Amino acid sequence: MALGLGCSAKPGKAKENRTGSWRTFRPEFMHEKCTKCGMCTQVCPEGCIGEDDLGFPVPDYDYCKGCGLCVEECPSQAIEMKKEEK
Ligand code: SF4
Ligand code: SF4
Repeated sequence: MALGLGCSAKPGKAKENRTGSWRTFRPEFMHEKCTKCGMCTQVCPEGCIGEDDLGFPVPDYDYCKGCGLCVEECPSQAIEMKKEEK
């Protein structure tokens, strides 16, 4: 089975599971620091980072599980993990 770059499961499976409910921390994207390099989109294991009309990354919090990989790999420190408020 072929998987997309950075994906550990098929997107359809993640959508069925709504992995966003696992999260205790959420990534917050600071567009003022973002260079639109696309690294976060590539490393996200849920494949849940899209982009807005200007090309900035936007996570889908229904499927983001809060793993923090995007924060670790962002070369511009443009993402921070914040405690989830429920
Ligand atoms: S924390 Fe970042 S890398 Fe992890 S699932 Fe959420 S958006 Fe993807
Ligand atoms: S990895 Fe960081 S700089 Fe690159 S697109 Fe994502 S948020 Fe922007």
